[in-house]
Formats: sequence, structure tokens, C-alpha cells
Amino acid sequence: MTTIKAIRQKKTALLQTIYPTDSPVINSTHGKCSLYLTPDQANFNVTNLSTLFNALRKIRFISHEIDLQDIAPQEQNTHYFTGDKFLDYVAYLGCAPAIQFEASPNSNNNNSDFCFIKIHCYKSARLIHSQKQARAPHCPNCEKPVKDWQDRKTESTISCNHCNTTSNIEDFNWRKMAGYAQLFIEITDIFPKEAIPQQLLLDKLANISGTNWQYFYSYKQ
Ligand SMILES: [Zn+2]
Repeated sequence: MTTIKAIRQKKTALLQTIYPTDSPVINSTHGKCSLYLTPDQANFNVTNLSTLFNALRKIRFISHEIDLQDIAPQEQNTHYFTGDKFLDYVAYLGCAPAIQFEASPNSNNNNSDFCFIKIHCYKSARLIHSQKQARAPHCPNCEKPVKDWQDRKTESTISCNHCNTTSNIEDFNWRKMAGYAQLFIEITDIFPKEAIPQQLLLDKLANISGTNWQYFYSYKQ
């Protein structure tokens, strides 16, 4: 009988064959980056987070919770190890470095340089975007990039300097480099074009939540 574990080991071995561990590490010059999944509707939220956790665990996208020591008190998000079906849901492409699903044994307890899953849930929608290498969002009205958007932004809108219209933040085209939502599922240690979520995952999330999902990438500081 072929077990899930065996399948995953086979996949991991395959990835390691295609992308040897000594391949260029693209994150060395860019800091950290994550892949985020968000509901299409900015104001969508779950009424019961533990129901979401259980559903994500049931489809084996996440496994058990990570007990991170000295976690900042303002960090309200929850951290999970990837589940044993993770590689069915997220496809790694191109020159990806070997994927690390756990902290290195010789690292300290605060090490978070590995691929795990964080669920962020906020009372009101917020924009997650790269502090560095931020991209100008395109106006939904005239489709031109608004370069000084950070100066033209309110809590929920941005005014366009080209056509002088004000539109909701979520209506701008962020070109998959920012997202505006209340609920985010973050997969750490993934760079743009390094891995993409599969339709299977987006379908499962739609089934669980009753709403459609999209994704983006964001660099950390
Ligand atoms: Zn415009």
C-alpha cells in the first residue's frame, strides 16, 4: 500500500533531484518573502477560526500548531506546520531551492526560516504589501500605475493622480504583489514565481469558506 508519506517523500526526492540544494539561493539578496492566499471579498471573514483550522487540517494542507517561543504579544496570528498533502496544493517551479519544512536542528527556537503556514485574521481589512520592492498598483478606472499611491491612500481608498478618481483599495490591480483582506493564509519562505497555489487548493478553500480565493506574494522587511 502506498502511503501519503511515501508519496510525499517521493515528491520531495523528485524536487531535490531537479533542484539540487546547491542551486543559487535567490532569497540571499532579497530578504524573506511569503505567498498569501486571501478571499476575493476584502470584508470576508470566518465566524469561527477553529472551524477553518480543522478544515485545513482535514484536507492535510496544515498539520499541527507550531509552538513558537517568545512570540511577540501583538502577533495574533497562528502558526502551523505544513500538512502531508502540501505539495499537492502548492507547485514549486523553476530554480527553487530545496524546501525546508522544519527549523534546522541546530538553530535557536525563534528560527522561522522554513516553510510553514500562518493564519492572519483581522477585525477590519488591511493591505499587506512589500515594504521593499513595492509595485505601483494600477487604477481600476484608467489602468495607469499610481506611483505615489502610499501618499494618496486612506484606510480603504486610493485616489488616482492620472484620472482624479478615488477607488477602493481592493479594486486596484496589485499585480499579485499585495492584498487587501481581513483573512490571510500565509505560506512562508516562497518567492514570486518560485511556487504557485494549485487550482485544487483554491477549489478546496472555496468549498470550505463559500467564497473564492486569490493569491499574491509579499516581501518582508
Ligand atoms: Zn486612474
